[in-house]
Amino acid sequence: MYEVTIDRDACDGVFACLVRDGRFVEADDGTATIDEDADAVTERRTEADEVTVSFEGDDMVDDARQAAAACPLDAITVEES
Ligand code: SF4
Repeated sequence: MYEVTIDRDACDGVFACLVRDGRFVEADDGTATIDEDADAVTERRTEADEVTVSFEGDDMVDDARQAAAACPLDAITVEES
């Protein structure tokens, strides 16, 4: 299981993440979020400036890590458990 968190306050819409992991999409406000229809989602939490999505049973954690590494504002966190 792993969790991907986007700090949407830090995000400024550069969208380097989108090309590394197709589950990242542009939200209505021009920041990044996680696709509502993404596979293997077990939980989704949305707070004022943050979205956290848990995934289980897929092999895409490396894609999420690449998206996090590419983000110039360190707005993406990936935690495995
Ligand atoms: S790369 Fe970072 S700053 Fe750019 S859209 Fe993605 S999360 Fe936001």
